[in-house]
Amino acid sequence: MKMKLTSMILAFLSGAAVLTAHEGVERGPNGGRLLEFSKDETMHGEVTVKEGKFHIALLDKDMKPVAVAAQTLTASTGDRAKPVKLEVAKAATGFSMPVVSEGAWLILQFRSGPEGKPITARMEYNTATCDGCKEPEWLCKCEPEKEKEKPAAKAKAAKP
Ligand SMILES: [Zn+2]
Repeated sequence: MKMKLTSMILAFLSGAAVLTAHEGVERGPNGGRLLEFSKDETMHGEVTVKEGKFHIALLDKDMKPVAVAAQTLTASTGDRAKPVKLEVAKAATGFSMPVVSEGAWLILQFRSGPEGKPITARMEYNTATCDGCKEPEWLCKCEPEKEKEKPAAKAKAAKP
């Protein structure tokens, strides 16, 4: 019984560590959130917010802009049981769609063309201000090392 309790506590502690191990996100050349649109880092999407819309630009392996042509993107939000489709507009410079609710997930499915395998990318639109870098959490640029200095503050921020 005592062993069991110890392992339960350990499990809880490691779970908490994962929750508070906040290490920032990948940001693109325009200060947006970088999402992976390929299995081999050859295509990325950079998410920025302009005029109440998400804009998603395509970037190649060198983070250079890629013109939108045959590529397609679908977007949804909400949970798996009740996904809500978002209307996606397509332009040569990228895709755009309505901004999701604060704290909700943006789920994107990218295809390089009609033959391309769909790649799913997702991000939580967490607009809370990060203690570390003062950026919204969805654009957090903290380094992993920095977070270790004040785990207490992070623990609070992680669970509102
Ligand atoms: Zn941060």
